[in-house]
Amino acid sequence: MLIVQKFGGTSVGNPERIKNVAARVARYRAQGDQVVVVVSAMSGVTDNLIKLAKEIMPLPSEREMDMLLATGEQTTIALTAMALHSLNLQATSLTGAQAGIVTDGVHTKAKIQNITPKQVHSLLDGGNVVIVAGFQGQTVEGQITTLGRGGSDLTAIALAAALKADLCQIYTDVDGVYTADPRIVPTARKLPEISYDEMLELASLGAKVMQSRSVEFAKKFGVIFEVRSSLNDNPGTIVKEETLSMEDVVIRGVSLDKNQAKVTLVGVPDKPGVAAKIFKALADATINVDMIVQNVSHNTGTPATDLSFTADKPDLLKAQKVIEQLQEEIGYQKVISDEKIGKLSIVGVGMRSHSGVAAKMFDTLANEGVNIDMISTSEIKISVVIDIARAEQAMRAVHKVFLEKQPA
Ligand code: ADP
Ligand code: ASP
Ligand code: MG
Repeated sequence: MLIVQKFGGTSVGNPERIKNVAARVARYRAQGDQVVVVVSAMSGVTDNLIKLAKEIMPLPSEREMDMLLATGEQTTIALTAMALHSLNLQATSLTGAQAGIVTDGVHTKAKIQNITPKQVHSLLDGGNVVIVAGFQGQTVEGQITTLGRGGSDLTAIALAAALKADLCQIYTDVDGVYTADPRIVPTARKLPEISYDEMLELASLGAKVMQSRSVEFAKKFGVIFEVRSSLNDNPGTIVKEETLSMEDVVIRGVSLDKNQAKVTLVGVPDKPGVAAKIFKALADATINVDMIVQNVSHNTGTPATDLSFTADKPDLLKAQKVIEQLQEEIGYQKVISDEKIGKLSIVGVGMRSHSGVAAKMFDTLANEGVNIDMISTSEIKISVVIDIARAEQAMRAVHKVFLEKQPA
């Protein structure tokens, strides 16, 4: 079998852990499997690099950020290769570029355009374990790029697709995908399986166990993968296409995103084209806008309204700049930003065939005395923006109602 195994930051967090990874890989090699290993930076390294950069300047060049961040994974691939050598295994490390991962030029959140893993194939054929740096790629012009936080997941899944691997295993520091983040909800349960769509929603709504773009990619190319622990041999969670029986469960999981900020434009003239201008400018600055809420017009004088949107917290400064540059053209009164928000979501394909789910969620929040700021729904999820200070308490309450006391 050809197996792609990805090890996240904690799983390669110190030399001992890296040796454990090597020992696990050695077991698969002993069975005759070919193994491609994708590794993240050692835990804390990427965060530290970002912190260092911010100490130099608040809004560093994104090209230089990529140059900086790519070093984290480069450290781990070399150490992992050495750990395999010390077990007398043939192993060679490759950067993203060397592995043939070509991306677009959107620094810090580049998209993979294609993979030509020529070197990977020839090294595998020569009996090597190939260790690929996660999270990074290169543009056709030779610029180093990174794939967004958590991007090693994407490297692994994209490589599994490109190599037509028989198995793709994502090793992490929990036993699999849970009904909620087990660090916040101690009563959360491990799920034996979950559909791509549910995993995608949970991931994009804050469950950082998988990078959401990697799940999107897996769905698109039909890559079935398993999320499991690097610390034991317990079976993990299989992520795959939806099956009929999955609809029997109303809510698969609850997630909380604390990484969003809310921007409100107060007194925006209520006339055609204004929203288009605002969101085009944000899109041009590659800021991902998530929820948008526009109020009804105020009734006094020229019609004006308040417009709120949420975006990723790290993009807040950039978003504020973009909005400020529009002040004259649009003529809104003022901007207010709020970083103290959390987005709480419930997700499940079973929601399609069950009613009253939203009412039950809102009722639960009301009982907890939690005020709802914004709401958004789709076929398989309901999200609310709430005060970050109450968010974890709200998450536990919602988990309890939907996932601990399921009505028969
Ligand atoms: P890695 O470094 O291996 O990529 P991450 O820290 O990115 O690991 O993701 C694993 C973490 O995701 C877990 O430690 C857990 O706290 C968190 N997490 C959030 N939501 C979930 C969930 N629904 N199921 C499992 N883990 C979750
Ligand atoms: N090291 C990168 C990060 O911390 C990528 C990853 O771990 O997947 O976001
Ligand atoms: Mg991760």
